[in-house]
Amino acid sequence: MIYLENELVACQKCKLEVEGMAEKGILTPQELKILKHPRRILEANYPVRMDDGSLKIITAFRVQYNLNLGPGKGGIRFHPEVDLDEVSELAFTMALKTSLTQLPFGGAKGGVRIDPKDFSESELERISRGYVREFWKFLGPKTDIPAPDVNTNSKIMAWMLDEYEKIVGEKSPAFITGKPVEDGGSEGRDKSTAMGAFYILQEEYKEIENKKDISVAIQGFGNAGSVIAELLDEAGFKVVAVSDVSGGIYNKDGLDISSLKKFVYEEKNHSVILFDGGEEITNGELLTLDVDLLIPAALGGVITRENVDEVKAGKILELANGPISVEAEKILEERGVVIIPDLLANAGGVIVSYFEWLQNLDNEHWSLEEVNEKLKEKILLAYKKVKELSEKENLSLKKAAYKIAAKRIIGAEKV
Ligand code: GLU
Repeated sequence: MIYLENELVACQKCKLEVEGMAEKGILTPQELKILKHPRRILEANYPVRMDDGSLKIITAFRVQYNLNLGPGKGGIRFHPEVDLDEVSELAFTMALKTSLTQLPFGGAKGGVRIDPKDFSESELERISRGYVREFWKFLGPKTDIPAPDVNTNSKIMAWMLDEYEKIVGEKSPAFITGKPVEDGGSEGRDKSTAMGAFYILQEEYKEIENKKDISVAIQGFGNAGSVIAELLDEAGFKVVAVSDVSGGIYNKDGLDISSLKKFVYEEKNHSVILFDGGEEITNGELLTLDVDLLIPAALGGVITRENVDEVKAGKILELANGPISVEAEKILEERGVVIIPDLLANAGGVIVSYFEWLQNLDNEHWSLEEVNEKLKEKILLAYKKVKELSEKENLSLKKAAYKIAAKRIIGAEKV
């Protein structure tokens, strides 16, 4: 955390983004003030008992960037490099995302600074429960509703919910989303991030009859990356490359995605690089492949000043949060590369989280068809609004999305 010109700045990228909007006249100086800083920052350093009896201090955060439109909403990620700057930036994106998609939520994010691979299952459970004990006073169905993010899943959500319910002494499934279906989770939540992006891509490429002509490279083969690979493959797109933390594979004629998924998940081979159906490439090489569509679906900050000149894709869909740095974005825009921004492209996750929250509050259970139908409607409405504004005012999709989202947040400010 640093002070700049006597102002506390917890997120350099948010500052750059909003100042960029102010320079372009999208935000007035007064509006800039509202969006430049996170509203509330929480940090905890709490002890957790390890299996060998020792104690470890766990550092964790929750940032509520803006609460103008409703309770905070946003996932919790477990990652060794999580810090306040990153969590603030992600909370900022969540605030814009919920605003753009017209959800009755503000934007928040949580992070735990650990590598989950270093811990046993029971240690992870104690870390997860500890997180709730630290922050529960600032969380709740009408206050701030967590969800999964990088390296967290429905099992972790179930532990967190159980801890919360023990503390408050009542059933409260709307406290957290992304739960297992048997604990009040929604149908379709697990695939919703990729599903939302898929609906957008169907619309984006609706004029192209033969989808085999569209080559796609996807960085990441986890919950978002593997599902979008499968959906695109089934719809006839040519997925030529995918990767995970260990590296990637490439086949110019297209990969056999259903066999690859089976190989990684059912046969538990854990990495795509061992699959015998393409040549091995690095994650860096995947980003610079000459493809029609590039989908970064893993971590943030992967396309930067350093590698942007090498990027050859004509279109980029940001399925991860913040994969393109502010500088790289400027360069890509100047080159005419179309960027479908994260706050739109990956909003399917939080949209279905909203449906889950509604079902919990109303004690209902919707079918998968109903969830997907509503998701499609909501995400395409946001997509169309962004497209319209970008054409009308000659803005990139990213700037148009930011403008719509920022204005709605600012319009709800009560001073
Ligand atoms: N972590 C997801 C995101 O970045 C989902 C958040 C949520 O469902 O609240 O959008």
